[in-house]
Amino acid sequence: MKFGGTSVEGATAFKNAAGIVFYRQALRPVVVVSAMAGFTDALLASVQQALAVGFVEGAATLEKHFDRHRRVIDVLLVQEAQRIQALVDQSRVEITELLKRAASDVSAGADPRRRKFFEDAVVSYGERLSAAMFAAVLIENKVLSTDIDARRCIITDNEHGCAAPLMDHTFRNTQEQLQPLIESSWVPVLGGFIGSTATGETTTLGRGGSDYTAALVGAALEAKEIQIWTDVPGVLTADPRLVSHARTVPHLSFEEAAELAYFGAKVLHPKTLHPAIERDIPVRICNSRAQEGGSTLVVGETKKSPQTVKAIAHKTGVTTVQVTSTRMLGAYGFLRALFEIFAEHKTAVDVVTTSEVSVSLSLDDTSALPAIVERLEKHGTVSIEEGRAIICVVGEGLRSTPGIAARIFSTINDINVSLISQGASRINLTFAVEEMRVRETVARLHKEFFEGSAGEDAIRELNDLGAEVSA
Ligand code: ADP
Ligand code: ASP
Ligand code: MG
Repeated sequence: MKFGGTSVEGATAFKNAAGIVFYRQALRPVVVVSAMAGFTDALLASVQQALAVGFVEGAATLEKHFDRHRRVIDVLLVQEAQRIQALVDQSRVEITELLKRAASDVSAGADPRRRKFFEDAVVSYGERLSAAMFAAVLIENKVLSTDIDARRCIITDNEHGCAAPLMDHTFRNTQEQLQPLIESSWVPVLGGFIGSTATGETTTLGRGGSDYTAALVGAALEAKEIQIWTDVPGVLTADPRLVSHARTVPHLSFEEAAELAYFGAKVLHPKTLHPAIERDIPVRICNSRAQEGGSTLVVGETKKSPQTVKAIAHKTGVTTVQVTSTRMLGAYGFLRALFEIFAEHKTAVDVVTTSEVSVSLSLDDTSALPAIVERLEKHGTVSIEEGRAIICVVGEGLRSTPGIAARIFSTINDINVSLISQGASRINLTFAVEEMRVRETVARLHKEFFEGSAGEDAIRELNDLGAEVSA
């Protein structure tokens, strides 16, 4: 059971989340918890501040967040209060020491790798303190519980800021750390998002990575279900920040959920589905604020595909790159040469389309783009477009229903669309638009597929399917 930042943003949220675990003790849960909402951003900003101004100033920015922790302790803990407050105080001292080291480390200002090393060390306190507080709240409610340092379970490579777990090592350690506790009816509580290298350096799995931790732990323990408790009632038909009336999709296949997560549905970290797919473990996304409001169950097999799309994801801040060269015509090895450049700069490519003489692709991370372009120019003419957004329409229905593409593009026929791609699985249709038009594009597609009479049919079909799956 993973609880995100907003599910532990303050005393009420902590109490609520602990209550959800309390009533499910018989299921032998393992809890994975994020830092209190906003604390990760603040911890990262404190490193920036320490490097730019000084460690005292960096540390000072965190005081209001330590106060937030203290308020949770004051409201929810009695016997455990002193122990947990001492932990918070100790963390404050250790973070200040780390900021001091970062500020006096000549390479941390210039070398992003070194800076990320310090960021990981500092940011890990968010999840560790949440885990300690969550376990303490359970203990006060007479649950046998203890927090476990996730860095003893999740073992990763040394790519700070975006580390990849070493699966065998992680599974073995997670089993060793957690199985004996579970067998003795204890409820272990781990911080999400954090891990450590084999040599003991603290790492993180990338922003939003607590979902991924939950899936790794679930897979290692062959859990019956991986539950992601968050601030919305499951995966919705679109991002609720763009479409306020978006509705719960009760049922998704692994593939559909993976596409949505990959193309921007923040409710799931993009890597969450991998361990679940590997071990065929259902993933349920639930609302920690209102349990009866609906949830999404993600499973391996779709019983039957409704003839509609299931949801629309979007991702902003995308850059598209086009490389044009007549040398591509009939040549082999050209694409490999291009993609090797991206690989050498550790830059992930999201969407790719090719024509006879050009390749277009989209990127999220442009930190290495100047160096990449310099190398690409040896292969052809390069043009870059910034400020783009990717829209991804997902549903098994796309595979079998003719005319969906026509509906999509006629709905937005006055919006300039580029980089159109149908994923190899044929369950998604992805394209780029100008970032400025993303809200309008998503809203219009949502209206077309989920509102009005056609939309009512689609929702009914989704709901019927949801009921069937729950049953
Ligand atoms: P947590 O802190 O629980 O990990 P996140 O903020 O990471 O929560 O993810 C939940 C948020 O994801 C929602 O509040 C919502 O704004 C956003 N979101 C984006 N797309 C979707 C979608 N299709 N369905 C549900 N939520 C979405
Ligand atoms: N606390 C981390 C973040 O804000 C991890 C997570 O919430 O999943 O990115
Ligand atoms: Mg999240």
